Amino acid sequence: MTDNTPSPITATVPPTQPASRAFADLPLSPAQLAVLQQLEYFEMTPIQAASLPLALAGHDLIAQAKTGSGKTAAFGLPLLARLNPRHFGVQAMVLCPTRELAEQVSQEIRRLARAQDNIKILALCGGAPMRAQITSLEHGAHIVVGTPGRLMDHIERGSLKLDGLNTLVLDEADRMLDMGFFDDISWVASRCPPGRQTLLFSATYPDGIAKLAAEFLRNPQEVKLTEAHEADKIRQRFYEITPEQRLTAVGMLLRHYRPTSTLAFCNTRQQCKALFEQLRSEGFHVLTLHGELEQHERDQVLIRFANRSCSVLVATDVAARGLDIAQLEAVINVDITPDPEVHIHRVGRTGRADQDGWALSLVGPADQKKIVGIAQLGNFKPEWHKLDSLVAEDEAPLLPPMSTLQILGGKKDKIRPGDVLGALTGEAGYTREQIGKINVTEQTTYVAVDRNIAGEATRKLGAGKIKGKTVKVRRL
Ligand code: ADP
Ligand code: MG
Repeated sequence: MTDNTPSPITATVPPTQPASRAFADLPLSPAQLAVLQQLEYFEMTPIQAASLPLALAGHDLIAQAKTGSGKTAAFGLPLLARLNPRHFGVQAMVLCPTRELAEQVSQEIRRLARAQDNIKILALCGGAPMRAQITSLEHGAHIVVGTPGRLMDHIERGSLKLDGLNTLVLDEADRMLDMGFFDDISWVASRCPPGRQTLLFSATYPDGIAKLAAEFLRNPQEVKLTEAHEADKIRQRFYEITPEQRLTAVGMLLRHYRPTSTLAFCNTRQQCKALFEQLRSEGFHVLTLHGELEQHERDQVLIRFANRSCSVLVATDVAARGLDIAQLEAVINVDITPDPEVHIHRVGRTGRADQDGWALSLVGPADQKKIVGIAQLGNFKPEWHKLDSLVAEDEAPLLPPMSTLQILGGKKDKIRPGDVLGALTGEAGYTREQIGKINVTEQTTYVAVDRNIAGEATRKLGAGKIKGKTVKVRRL
């Protein structure tokens, strides 16, 4: 690959290509390689192997791969490699669709930047006071990660200066387009120096991406990873249903397969609501994500699902995009999506990390044509099953293994995860195994505990002390 490449080259890299998977084969500093070892990143993920050599060589890039495939490091390492820590100006900017994703991305870059001293990474999102962000920017930042609207505010006020910018990243570009950010992205990109490198990352490839790329990328290399190679970890089954059976069929699937964590996809918000009510009335521990939730409510839903104290999360594609949930035993396509790529993307969320996963789809008469398209794109023959073959072998209700306790008090009270763990394993006398994930947010702390001890642990925590203070505790 040379720099005088005449026109955009499409390098669609099949996952089987024997490209090197060793980070050591990349032009990275020994210190950076050591950090990767520390993080236990022993080899590149396929999207990293395909995109890092190109990005490190300075090419603009369009990279498409599913959620959870390691895209953050695929742009994080190149922008860190180019960074001059002694220059206190913004050298890299990452645009993300939501505050939550911006936080995730800045955390990951922070971890990757451990090798270099004093690299300042700022998350700039709406919902936080402008004043504090301006002060932080005045003190100098190397990397900013933010949502388009807030970044525009800062650029307009002059608190964010881009003349030293050498890398612009559009992360989750498809989602930003879904959210109507095209014009904002365009405005921000037009204020970046023309000589910068632009890296565009996306989970799917809707039409708008090509338009974005044509406007803001220069001779981009295109890296696209199809997901067929992971299909064998995922057992996919299709159930024929009548339209009236759709909502009640979900409970039948859950009682039969008994997955610990299930993501149930609906095509619309109304359907999410209807399914949520249905499952709740059947006694399932279910939560839903939708656009009307306040940010802290959304955070709480995600925490409770990820810490395994909720069996089912009901969501639309837009609401579920970008969520990094490690263990998902099942994905249920309650509604079949009209876009086969979206179907493959949904299904790819289960069966990660060498675990098997179930992908179960409910197919009504009007969905038959969509399944033909899905089977063609995924290159497989659908395995059909009958609803009445589903039997609930275990009569016990499906319960999540954990339960979440909410402690009123968080970072602002200087509570750290270790304090909570200490209170539970010390005075309260529980074992480490009975305690799950602990999430400390600004105002609130969430701790997952074994469902069987949840009531008693609530009382013990409430009666004892954390950081020398009594705290209010309730079970969610
Ligand atoms: P994406 O942006 O594609 O959804 P992320 O960048 O959020 O994916 O990465 C998903 C998870 O994989 C993160 O927890 C990240 O720390 C981890 N990860 C990324 N690259 C590697 C690697 N090379 N080896 C092991 N884990 C990795
Ligand atoms: Mg990502």
